[in-house]
Amino acid sequence: MHILIIEDEEKTASFLRKGLTESGYVVDTSGNGDEGLLLALDIDYDLIILDVMLPGRDGWSILETLRRAGRKMPVLFLTARDMVHDRVKGLELGADDYLIKPFAFSELLARVRLLLRRTPQRHNETLQVADLEIEFARQRASRGGSRLDLTSKEFALLSLLARREGEVLSRTLIAEQIWDINFDSDTNVIDVAIRRLRSKVDDPFKKKLIHTVRGVGYVFEDR
Ligand code: CA
Repeated sequence: MHILIIEDEEKTASFLRKGLTESGYVVDTSGNGDEGLLLALDIDYDLIILDVMLPGRDGWSILETLRRAGRKMPVLFLTARDMVHDRVKGLELGADDYLIKPFAFSELLARVRLLLRRTPQRHNETLQVADLEIEFARQRASRGGSRLDLTSKEFALLSLLARREGEVLSRTLIAEQIWDINFDSDTNVIDVAIRRLRSKVDDPFKKKLIHTVRGVGYVFEDR
């Protein structure tokens, strides 16, 4: 498996390179956006780890150019803690996952393994599960051909669940990805949001797609 890291902070880049190499991956690094993009277009990488702020060309532009060129390799964004809009923007542009700096290497490795296991179908602009269809670029979702009336937060939540179909997502992870907050005990916000999402996505339909995993969180699955 061949991974490209585009990151201009040398410490982070070398820490990632070392850890991933030790984990058995072949790793290239670039500290410049223009150079990184050229590498990404030239070599058929299995995964790209992408920083947002880069000299030469930013991470958004790299991702957009790659997707326009039809490159569907998974892209893991590295983002700053307070940049929740960056994350939403990244999802819209076709990023597959995020990691908030600073992060533990074990966390990065877990995400990398997961992304590499996923099927290419998930990098498409649309995702279909049972009779649910999500068009990421247009921020639209429908079931059985009828458009679902979702707020942008609800759409983000549905996208997160659906992109990780079959994976149990903890309330903490959902909170971090969608609300950019950390909880210790009060996970009520997530439960309320899921209930609202279910009232639109699941309640009117016979087949339920969002399932509760008691004591853990939620999983999106066609059972
Ligand atoms: Ca940077």
